[in-house]
Amino acid sequence: MSDVIRKDPRKNWILRNRLHPLHEQVVAEMNGPAAVVRGPSGLIRKNPHAVGFIGPNGIKRIDRLGGSGSAAASAKREQQEEQLPIIAIEQPQSYVVVVVDAANGELSAHDRDVLGQARLLADGRAENTAVVALVFGALKAALGEAANPDHAFGLAGADRVMLFDDECYAGFAPEQQLEAMLAVDRQLSPVNWLFPDTHLSGNDRALRLAARLGERPAMHAWQIKDGKVTSRGGSEMTDITRDLAAATAPRILALASECALPVDEARYEARLLPLPSVPNAMVRIKDAGAVAVDPNQIAMGEAEFILSAGNGIHDWDQFHATAAALGATEGASRVAVDNGFMPRFRQVGATGTWVTARVYIAVGISGAVQHLQGIGSCEKVIAINTDAGCDMVKRADLSVIGDSQEILAALKARAEQGAVAVSEPQQGKADGESNHNVA
Ligand SMILES: Cc1cc2nc3c(=O)[nH]c(=O)nc-3n(C[C@H](O)[C@H](O)[C@H](O)COP(=O)(O)OP(=O)(O)OC[C@H]3O[C@@H](n4cnc5c(N)ncnc54)[C@H](O)[C@@H]3O)c2cc1C
Repeated sequence: MSDVIRKDPRKNWILRNRLHPLHEQVVAEMNGPAAVVRGPSGLIRKNPHAVGFIGPNGIKRIDRLGGSGSAAASAKREQQEEQLPIIAIEQPQSYVVVVVDAANGELSAHDRDVLGQARLLADGRAENTAVVALVFGALKAALGEAANPDHAFGLAGADRVMLFDDECYAGFAPEQQLEAMLAVDRQLSPVNWLFPDTHLSGNDRALRLAARLGERPAMHAWQIKDGKVTSRGGSEMTDITRDLAAATAPRILALASECALPVDEARYEARLLPLPSVPNAMVRIKDAGAVAVDPNQIAMGEAEFILSAGNGIHDWDQFHATAAALGATEGASRVAVDNGFMPRFRQVGATGTWVTARVYIAVGISGAVQHLQGIGSCEKVIAINTDAGCDMVKRADLSVIGDSQEILAALKARAEQGAVAVSEPQQGKADGESNHNVA
C-alpha cells in the first residue's frame, strides 16, 4: 500500500456538515489530541496547539462559538443539564409564586429572570421556601427544551409548577385568571407574588390581583437588593425604594427584565402541584385573538421573526416580497446598509441593533463578528449562503447552502401556499372571531 495520503470524500463531507451526527467524532479524529487534557498531576491543562480544527479545505479554523450551534453540541448541553443535581424541597413552609408569561407556550428570557429573582428571595428566607411557577394556557409539547415539560421549569429554578391549561385560561382571560390567582392565594398564602412587568400579561395581572386583595404592589421594580425593592416611578424619572422587611412591604412585585440573573448550574424539582378549585368568573372580556400587524412597524429589538439581508442579496424586490409573504421583520448587515439598499435603522449588529428574535434568517450574510454580536440572543438562527464554510453557517442552527435568489423564490412560494392552505378553512367565520396572522 502506498504512503500517499488520500482524501476520504465521506469524511470530508461529514466535516463540512456540522449537523451530521458523526461531525464531532470526525473532527476529533482529524485533529488529534484534545484541546483540554488532565495532566499527570491531575491538573486540567490546555493544549494551545490543539485549539481549533482543520476545515475541509485544509485551513485551520477556530470555532468562536464553541460549536454551540451544532446538533452534537446541543445534545451534549442537554446531557450536561440532565446530569445537574436536582435540588428538592420536600416540605415547604412558605412559597414564592411566579406567574410566568410563557407567551407562545414557552418560558421567555424575562420569565427566567423573574424565576431567578424568586430563587434569591426563597433561598434567602430562614424557613424552607419553594418557588412555584404558575402558568396560564397550554405549554408547548416539549417546551422546546427536553422531552419532559417540567424540565425547562426545573432548570429555570421552579420547585413546583401549577399549570392552569384549561381553555378558559387561554389567551387574554383576566377575569378567570384572577379567580385562579385568588384561589392559589387562599391555598398557599405566598410570601411574595412575582410577575414579569409586561403590558398585557404580567403587569395587568399584578395590578388586578393587587386591586382585588387591596394591597399596594411594587410595579416597574428593577432591583431587589439588601432587603429593599427599587421601582422606577414618576414617569420613569425617579426611583422609589421600599423596605421588604417593613410591615407595609409590598407582597406583589412586577419585575423588569434583567432584575436578576436566570438560574444556572442547578436544577430544581418542578413537581406539578394539584390545582385548587376555582370558581367561574363572570366573563365580560372576550379574547378575539391576535391581530395581524405590519411586521416592519415592530421595533427591531422586539421583533420575533427577522429576515435579514446581506451582500449576498442580488434581487432586492424579491427580498422585500419574501419578507412580506413570510410576515417577517426586515433586518440588514452593515454592508447592505452602507450600499444604500436598506435604511440605517435596519442594521443588525454591534453598531446597529442587538436583536432577540426567536427566529433569525440571515440571507447572504457572511457572519462577521460585529454582526454575530447583534444576534447573540436569537433563539434559532438560519443561514442561507453559498459558502458552506462561512461564520454565519457555523453559528446557525440550520443552514441552506445555495443561491439566495433561488432559495428566497422557493421560500416565498411555499409561504404563499401555506397562507392559502391555512386561511381557506377560516372563510365564512363569524365577525369578531379570531383573526390570526397565518403567514
Ligand atoms: C467598527 C465596525 C463595526 C461594524 N458593525 C457592524 C454591524 O453592526 N453590523 C454588521 O452587519 N456589520 C458591521 N460591521 C461590518 C462587518 O465587519 C462586515 O463587513 C459586514 O457584516 C459584512 O456584511 P455581509 O455579510 O452582508 O457582506 P459580506 O461579508 O460581503 O458577505 C456576503 C455573504 O453573502 C454570501 N453570498 C454571496 N452571494 C450569494 C448568493 N448569491 N446567495 C447566497 N449567499 C451569497 C457570501 O458567501 C458571503 O458569505 C462593522 C465593521 C466595523 C469595522
